[in-house]
Formats: sequence, C-alpha cells, structure tokens
Amino acid sequence: MANRVYNFAAGPAAMPLSVLEKAAAELTNCGGCGMSVMEMSHRSPAFEEIIGGAEAALRRLMKIPDHYKVLFLQGGATLQFSTIPLNLYRNSFSADYALTGSFAKKAAAEAKRVGKVNVVASSEDQKFNYIPEVDRSKLDPNADYMYIVTNNTIYGTKWPELPTPLNGVPLVADASSNILSEPMDVEKFGLIYFGAQKNVGPAGLTVVIVRDDLIGHAKPEVPIYLDYKTQADGGSMYNTPPTFAIYMAGLVFEWMESLGGVEAMAERNYKKANLLYDFIDNSDFYTATVPNRAHRSIMNATFVLGSEELNKRFVAEAAKCGLVNLKGHRSVGGIRASIYNAMEYEGVKALVDFMAAFEKENR
Ligand SMILES: *Cc1c(COP(=O)(O)O)cnc(C)c1O
Repeated sequence: MANRVYNFAAGPAAMPLSVLEKAAAELTNCGGCGMSVMEMSHRSPAFEEIIGGAEAALRRLMKIPDHYKVLFLQGGATLQFSTIPLNLYRNSFSADYALTGSFAKKAAAEAKRVGKVNVVASSEDQKFNYIPEVDRSKLDPNADYMYIVTNNTIYGTKWPELPTPLNGVPLVADASSNILSEPMDVEKFGLIYFGAQKNVGPAGLTVVIVRDDLIGHAKPEVPIYLDYKTQADGGSMYNTPPTFAIYMAGLVFEWMESLGGVEAMAERNYKKANLLYDFIDNSDFYTATVPNRAHRSIMNATFVLGSEELNKRFVAEAAKCGLVNLKGHRSVGGIRASIYNAMEYEGVKALVDFMAAFEKENR
C-alpha cells in the first residue's frame, strides 16, 4: 500500500501493514459470516472463536501457564493503577513500589487511595534517566505485592534485570510498552498487564495476566466490573468487551507467530535498537538521554540535539521525509523514536540515514 509513513508514535502506535490489510479485507464480511466483527454479538459463536483464538495465541506466545487467567478489559493501563490495589491489597494493605517514571508515580498515587505505598526505589532525582537499584532493606516482607513498570515509555528506560521481590511477595508489572518485545518469564510475576495500543493493537483493550491465587480477594465494596473474579468467572464477558480491539489484537498475535514468535521479535528489536543507539553513541551531534546503555529501552529511544531549536527543526524536517511523530513526550521534550514490534528495520534505517543527513546540514 502506497503513502504509508514510518510512524514513530509512542501510542497509539504503528501496526503491521499486513494486519491492517487483512482487517480491511474482512471489514464488511468477516470469515464469510456476512457482517463486520463490529456488528457481531459478543456472545455469538463467531466472536467466541475470535476471543478464544486471541487468548490461545497470546498463551502460546508468552507460554502462559494454566494457573494464570488472561482477562480482556477496558479502561486502559490507567484503570489498572486503581484496579490492582483494589484486588491485591488484602493482608498488610501495603505494597512496595519502584518509581521509574510518571506512570509508576501515577500508579503509586492511586494505590495510596486504597492503602499504604512503600517506595523501594526511585530515579526521580535524575529525571528518571536510569533504572534505580532496589534497596533490599526497604522491601517489606508483608507487602501485598511489589510493583514495577518494565519499560518506561516517556523516559526510554527498561529494567536490565527484573528485581526479585521477597519470598512470597508477588511481582506486579505494567508492561504496556514492552509486552511481547522479548521473552518474559510469566511465572516470575503474580500479575502482568498492558494497554494494547503500544505493541499489540488499537486503543480500548487492556490485557491482564493474573495468577489464580490473586483473584477473589477484592472487598465487597469494590465495583463489580473491577473485581478480577467477575472478569475471570465471566471469561471477560461480564459485559460487552471491546470486540473489535480484541479481534485486531488476535490478528497481531497471529502475525507475530508467523514471524517466529517473541524470540524472533526480540532479535528484530535488538537489531533495530542497536542500529539507532550505535549511531547516536558514535555521534557528538546527538545525545542519548539515558547514559547507561544497559538501562535503555529497546522500544522507546530518547535523545536530544544541541538545542531546543534544533530538536524542533529535526522533528519538522523528519516529518517532511515521511518519518513522523518523533517529538518527545510533552513533559520532557527532545526526540523520542518509538520502535515497537511493528516498526520495520527499514524504518529505523531510514531514520538513521535521515539523522546522518540532518547532522551534515546543521552542524
Ligand atoms: C501508555 C502507558 C500507560 C497509560 O496507558 P493508558 O492506556 O492511556 O491508560 C501506562 N503505563 C505505561 C508503561 C504506558 O506506556
């Protein structure tokens, strides 16, 4: 399909062209049933097959064990900031939070409305440009869970290694911006969740992968939609789920499997990220905002030029060349290239070629 740009948006973000084309071909008549997925009853056999197929593919991709439920929900990652403490606070009503960016801070603020928050690490002292050490003496053995954000979308950082919680404390992770980007051992977590619009599909779908023993502890006053037990018992169909977004996510999972699964994605993603970071590190015109390469995200690469004026010109000139949405998050400025699974190697190559040309013209 002609006239496609390379879209470096942080989310909603680029989706694989072949997925969009398949969805377009099926838009008015899906699987010969004479109607769009958008027009189907969520309780119809045709949709049962779509949601069942999406869940099965995700389970295969991530090797999700049977004692975890997969929930297809709404409300974005943001609603999970509140839903998690409402379901998981049950003994000490306290949880350990690592603050590695504004999404972690927002999640901690929501948890504080439900119980206690114990900050066990923070990189706020340096504008979140690194992943902090977890001070193990601060870990609470009675914490109801330990909370991290695996990839920090705005600041371009990623945990180089997962922190290990104290014995019996479940690890809870917001993996919205790096889910399925590289292998993840689900059994290390009590709960993993992600909004779909970064690496998986359209906005409107949030997926929660939660271990069975963490379900069923919400207090009676927790809204019924927000109780994981409601959603687990109802197969994510307590009410109408985001049917079209689930269908699109299913197509993306299918696409990933066709390319070799998460391992193949990881290989592609490191190749792309290395191309970009090698270029940046070999140039004195561009500076990565995360100094420690081991802490850098392979999904969101953040960097700056010598002045705010140059940053602006860079974003504008790149857009003219079909490289769009490179402006950093409004809270930090600079440049951010989000290079999720759907971004082709060729897109990053085009970006690096543009960066070389821009440097020549503007130094
Ligand atoms: C985008 C993002 C969010 C917020 O997602 P919404 O779906 O807009 O609520 C939360 N956490 C992370 C890590 C994100 O990248």
